[in-house]
Amino acid sequence: MPSAFINPDLRFNSYGTYLRRRFGCRVSKVNVDGGFTCPNRDGSRGTGGCIYCDNSSFSPSGTQAIVPIEEQMAAGMAYHRTRLGSEKFLVYFQKFTNTYGPVEKLADLYRRALAHPDVLGISVGTRPDALSDGSIELLQELARDHYVCVELGLQSRDDQVLNRINRGHTFQEYLQAVHRLAGRGLELCTHLIYGFPGESRAEFVKGARLFSELPIGCLKLHQLHVVQGTRLAELYRQGAFAPIALEEYVGTVCDFLEELSPSISIQRLYGSAPVEIRVAPNWDLKNNQMWYAVVNELKRRGSWQGCRFDGVPRAANGEW
Ligand code: SF4
Repeated sequence: MPSAFINPDLRFNSYGTYLRRRFGCRVSKVNVDGGFTCPNRDGSRGTGGCIYCDNSSFSPSGTQAIVPIEEQMAAGMAYHRTRLGSEKFLVYFQKFTNTYGPVEKLADLYRRALAHPDVLGISVGTRPDALSDGSIELLQELARDHYVCVELGLQSRDDQVLNRINRGHTFQEYLQAVHRLAGRGLELCTHLIYGFPGESRAEFVKGARLFSELPIGCLKLHQLHVVQGTRLAELYRQGAFAPIALEEYVGTVCDFLEELSPSISIQRLYGSAPVEIRVAPNWDLKNNQMWYAVVNELKRRGSWQGCRFDGVPRAANGEW
């Protein structure tokens, strides 16, 4: 029988359901651009960035650092209030590496976001190698009174893949970051991508067991897709990279979910890029169709998240 964490209509533990259960109302994430850069672009860790990275592909065009975050938040909250009837919000520092800066700058931005009465918390996207002791202590302090989620980009557990995609960090550095962040009242989220050449379906699915054992509360999954202006787009045009098929992606995500602890909520099931810059794959599905492709496959199999997980689920906040 599915665990209490699982939304029976979806057959997995969706982050939206988790937030509603935790806060008792509809909660939306509102993206802001805090004016950060990335150590994998500015030379301190690497140059050129990850081979698939074009920040415009995962950041709404309405957010730009020159606009005060209060204005960015107001626009995002108005949109979600009208479109989804959302009552409360999490401010999502998404673009580039949002702990990469002086602690004073981080404290100013995070506190300004949390000052809005309808903001329940913040979500901070970052890299495992961009967390100073000071930034972790700041996040811990804010988490005493607010929801604070740290989203760690990992993408792959395979160091050879990380090297090939120019991530600029190792799997071991990710594990160290998780352990430095754990036990501080923070929600930890990990970002993963499926579809890298050299990483098999079996290897990717095996990761579900490992992540189930880590103190993380949520995951984001998406397919490797190619957007214009990236090194990956060049490789695609040269015939050196072939994107995976939709059926392969959906099947792999379902395999992964079946092995994953039901206590880990899923923030994202697929990636989407604006059609103007999307190069491949072109599955020609709208966001909700992608979502239901996974849900319907779980239904077809008669399975659900965690149906093949035999460990002990953690509490919903990632703590034991
Ligand atoms: S770490 Fe993130 S922001 Fe930096 S280059 Fe890679 S994908 Fe882009």
